[in-house]
Amino acid sequence: MKDINKIDYFIEWLEIEVQEGYKEKFLQYYTLLIEWNEKINLTTITDFDDVIIKHFVDSLLIYKVFDLTNERIIDIGTGAGFPGIPLKIVNPNLNITLVDSLKKRVNFLDEVIEKLDLTNITAIHGRAEDLGNNVVHREQYDLCVSRAVANLAILSEYCIPLVKNKGAFISYKSSKIEEELEASKKAIGVLGGKIKQLEKINILNTDISRSFIVIEKIKKTPKSYPRKSGKPNKDPIK
Ligand code: SAM
Repeated sequence: MKDINKIDYFIEWLEIEVQEGYKEKFLQYYTLLIEWNEKINLTTITDFDDVIIKHFVDSLLIYKVFDLTNERIIDIGTGAGFPGIPLKIVNPNLNITLVDSLKKRVNFLDEVIEKLDLTNITAIHGRAEDLGNNVVHREQYDLCVSRAVANLAILSEYCIPLVKNKGAFISYKSSKIEEELEASKKAIGVLGGKIKQLEKINILNTDISRSFIVIEKIKKTPKSYPRKSGKPNKDPIK
């Protein structure tokens, strides 16, 4: 049975102050996700309870590590809207920019935004490297988030240039990240970031865990970064 009330249990655990009507929005989002998933590839997770935990609650886990207030947030490689859309559903005050390089996914996001009546949120079709070299986006965001897009050295070149001085880039990673973290230290420093915090979290009463890497922006990103589209992925900074 599709029981959206289950999400309350996690919202309470995450200590999120939600606005009325959020459960209906999660239900609408689920319905659109499943409908569109038949036409375009959005997710392999489709069971209702799995989507609640592995997509919705997982996206919200950032509340365990960071105090989200009225930040201007950018979600790089958002795909079907994770984590950006769940963050927006529970906190309508956030200003969110969703970015994905696949146009079909951005079309899906536009429909979600319209049907769920979300405001102060936009979906952009583009590559992170191009946004990072565009004055409209470069060093404009308080927070950049990203889940399941690339390894941390590559991702840092996508994300850190978009963050303001003293802002943060928070990467959602699987639980084993020590090696990846070690291999990305040079890139993070070169790009103007500093590793501030590493947190591992188990989702309440499940065996699902997630690591968060919190990177603080401590100085401007040099003009030569990000390199042109495709380059960070082909030749990560090391
Ligand atoms: N963040 C979502 C999630 O956790 O479910 C989607 C993850 S999906 C595996 C990775 C997404 O990143 C894809 O939708 C892909 O199109 C996008 N992507 C990959 N490289 C990108 C880039 N350089 N700029 C923008 N989007 C990118």
